[in-house]
Amino acid sequence: MVKRKKILLSACLAGVNCTYNGKNKLNPYLKRLFDERSAVLFCPEKLGGFDVPHPPSEILFGDGMDVLKGNAVVVSRTGKNVTVLFMEGAKRSMRLAKKLGIKKAVMKARSPSCGCGMIYDGLFKGRLKKGFGVTAALLKKNGIEVITDEEYLRNNKLQITNAK
Ligand code: SF4
Repeated sequence: MVKRKKILLSACLAGVNCTYNGKNKLNPYLKRLFDERSAVLFCPEKLGGFDVPHPPSEILFGDGMDVLKGNAVVVSRTGKNVTVLFMEGAKRSMRLAKKLGIKKAVMKARSPSCGCGMIYDGLFKGRLKKGFGVTAALLKKNGIEVITDEEYLRNNKLQITNAK
């Protein structure tokens, strides 16, 4: 029997209440991937040691690639430098992907951990800039294909609606 390759999926997209405010971003189409055992759920912020809920964070002075190089930081809205927790979550996520032989991740758009292509600009004003979240950057750097939930749904002609 040929084993289907699994993907990593941001846990909030499958309905896990792990977002900073204790909610989720459930999309039933993406949850189905988990239900069908095609996806492994992960939450880099939980893996990094954040409690839920916690203040929201954004990347200042660059994106996740810059954080990996030590040229940018992740700060919480309360002004705390939370870079260490984000780095820990990224490393643990990478170890998980390696252990399971995973080559692709579908990740929540715009998150400072999971965002791929666009993230919030670090000023907590709802504005976006180009770049990757910290975990998305580390996975990508290690050859794992990272795409957002929105790209996945668009590519598969499915509906882009997340729980609020
Ligand atoms: Fe966790 Fe990523 Fe979802 Fe944030 S976007 S709650 S880090 S899985």
